[in-house]
Amino acid sequence: MRKALLTGAMVLASAAPAGAADFASCVAGLKQAAVRSGIGAALADRALKISEPDEKVLRVSKVQPESRHKIWDYLAYLVDDQRVADGRAMMKTHDRTLREAAKRFGVDRHVIAAVWGVETDYGRITGSYFLPHALATLTCRGGRREKFWRGQLLAALKLVHRGDLKLEKLYGSWAGAFGQTQFIPSTYQRLAVDFDGDGRRDLIESVPDALGSTANYLRRAGWRPGQSWMFEVRVPDTYNGPTGRRKKVSLSTWARRGVVRADGKPLTGAARAGLLLPAGPKGPGFLTFRNFDAIYAYNHAESYALAISHLADRLAGYPAFRTPWPTDDPGLSRAQRLALQKFLIAKGHDIGEADGKIGPLSRAAIKKEEARLGMPPTGRAGRKIYRALGGK
Ligand code: CA
Repeated sequence: MRKALLTGAMVLASAAPAGAADFASCVAGLKQAAVRSGIGAALADRALKISEPDEKVLRVSKVQPESRHKIWDYLAYLVDDQRVADGRAMMKTHDRTLREAAKRFGVDRHVIAAVWGVETDYGRITGSYFLPHALATLTCRGGRREKFWRGQLLAALKLVHRGDLKLEKLYGSWAGAFGQTQFIPSTYQRLAVDFDGDGRRDLIESVPDALGSTANYLRRAGWRPGQSWMFEVRVPDTYNGPTGRRKKVSLSTWARRGVVRADGKPLTGAARAGLLLPAGPKGPGFLTFRNFDAIYAYNHAESYALAISHLADRLAGYPAFRTPWPTDDPGLSRAQRLALQKFLIAKGHDIGEADGKIGPLSRAAIKKEEARLGMPPTGRAGRKIYRALGGK
């Protein structure tokens, strides 16, 4: 669902910046378009009372996230013990809602909770961008996706107009994903459901609405009730056969190719699966099913679907991956990243406040420490530098 996050950036980077007058006239045009599409003039005025682009949106939209991270860093961060513990607690608190959503939409409740946990840390971090401003900025900068952003803006305003949402609560990611499970406005219009029965679809303030809508989304993306999404496997060290989510074959075919389940259980079942080897044949392997593809539809990245799938397993009580990642410098949890930053600050590096987010300042400080310690300067927040500075 946050595909826009990943693909919007390249387009914007090549678009020419518009002047202030151009921006103002573009916003005026958006107001007219909003009124034409049935959104009241008063609401359009209130939402688009903006005279300048959101500079922060322009800046962050040029950064390409996720792709440059190592898979073990990405997963260590998204599926750490804290997120598992928090998720189990949240699943208890919202047990009835999750069971009802699972029953109505046929989607496993651990997966619903895992999406919630990865998208917003169970509703804690839902984004700080005022959506009309962010989306008007993206629209008025022009570029190939102008129509897309404009459509998202109008869709967001329609949701407010219709009474689903309050304008003053309309904050989310720079690319328009918002609410506890980060829907973009057009998806929200199509697939959000009122799961608490108050007549409004409010994925910002209602946990039931957010979880029910996520279940609905996954079901509509092809979720098959009662089936697995993924399990960990091992392949022979020399495996060089087919891989890929889409290259699905029967489990008996995988068995013939030397694939075995990491938990030692027999490789049986009627569903067909694809094989993912995100770190090659020596790292953990995964057989992924149709339900993995439904998760993938939420945000088109295999690493993302892997994180959701694994967090869901952990929430259900299954252990961490059995095969270690093929590296001598594994990734860090959020707590370890925070501790690493505190070590850097204690060493006198000016990286601002420790927030657990490894940005350019943290990376530069890590590089300096690595050089000081005679390590290759990578700037990466991994276990080696963490331990070298006193982490456990
Ligand atoms: Ca509701």
